[in-house]
Amino acid sequence: MENFKKSSHVVLTSHYKQIFKKSIEIKWGAKNPLERGPVVGTISEKENRNAIGTHSGSYTVYRALSIASGQYERDHKPDLKNTDMTTEVGPFDSWSDPRKIVSLDPWGASVSKTFDPYISKGYNIAPTIAVTQAHLQIPEIGEAIEKGRLKPDGKILLPSNDIKVTKAAIEPVWYLPGIAERFGVEEGELRKVLFEETGGMFPELVTRPDLKILLPPIGSSTAYIFGNPKDLSDPNVTLTCRVHDECNGSDVFGSDICTCRPYLTHGIEESVKTAQNGGVGLIVYFRKEGRALGEVTKFLVYNARKRQSGGDSASNYFYRTECVAGVVDARFQEFMPDVLHWFGIKKIHNLISMSDMKYDAIVNSGIEVSQRVSIPDELVPDDARVEIEAKKAAGYYVPEESEGPGDIKELDKVKGRDLDD
Ligand SMILES: [Zn+2]
Repeated sequence: MENFKKSSHVVLTSHYKQIFKKSIEIKWGAKNPLERGPVVGTISEKENRNAIGTHSGSYTVYRALSIASGQYERDHKPDLKNTDMTTEVGPFDSWSDPRKIVSLDPWGASVSKTFDPYISKGYNIAPTIAVTQAHLQIPEIGEAIEKGRLKPDGKILLPSNDIKVTKAAIEPVWYLPGIAERFGVEEGELRKVLFEETGGMFPELVTRPDLKILLPPIGSSTAYIFGNPKDLSDPNVTLTCRVHDECNGSDVFGSDICTCRPYLTHGIEESVKTAQNGGVGLIVYFRKEGRALGEVTKFLVYNARKRQSGGDSASNYFYRTECVAGVVDARFQEFMPDVLHWFGIKKIHNLISMSDMKYDAIVNSGIEVSQRVSIPDELVPDDARVEIEAKKAAGYYVPEESEGPGDIKELDKVKGRDLDD
């Protein structure tokens, strides 16, 4: 029995004769943006849409809630006056290379300028990238100044200990044939699994093979730039870079079971240093909580690790995750370098990361990495020893001079705190 009032009429998105009829073709990889075509994922004029899904990643559901509650006009068109980038980015050759960028729209930051001929005809085209300026106040940076590791210079690091940055927010825009190629799967198969495993969220994945763009309801990424953003594309300017995956527990709340926040703030400190010495720093923050398995899974794993016989140990670190989640890691670093290519990066002088997966993805995408920098030992919290030793044993990068347990027996000895402690 139905216990809700049905709305009068719903047009199914899979009926392409009713919607998508005035949609602009997208030629992904075309050099000229007008030939490439704008991504139209807004729903104010359904007939203009040429993408599956809608804007704002996972927040699209909140937008729907605001509409349902009557607080948001369904046909609202954003007023983009004064919203332009504070610093121009690109275009670069990588923007028209479908092997380099498939998970974001390189023209997504300049839609009001680039696609004006369409906007003036009434197309509702929304930006998927925004660039602005900010000051950062970070306790660890204050500590680095106190200990003499950093010195305010009045330009990058102000006397107030504020760091001046440029930052860019980037929403995911997936070109499905390119995404399938990165994973080495057939596009039709990828579309079918995406449709089925989201509980049938987007029927067009299977009914409209002509629509090649998906705006997936997932988290976005944010880039923080220290120094002049234009220097990112110059391989002769020293670049220090960290690509960081979200860990709310550590990054925001200071939980000590992992090295995420210490690694992040170390990356920021090194980025500031590089920028002060005439180079440029970049931190890219990806919303991929708990290796993209989510925080519920992550907390379940913490309990399973701490309660297993013998307690939390480095030798069982990855095994416990696989038992609970079915997979050790779901971050898929394959798309991560796209953001780097958006900035036109060709060379990273200092990569602040131990992850072999991140390193491989960056190098395989055609970016040179001169040096990998691991976290200084004194920055690793005690309870995070389990994580870091397990990662080293699993093939994460370890500098030659560093010491750690060599074999599995030794790995067994690296223990974490008990649940009750
Ligand atoms: Zn963490």
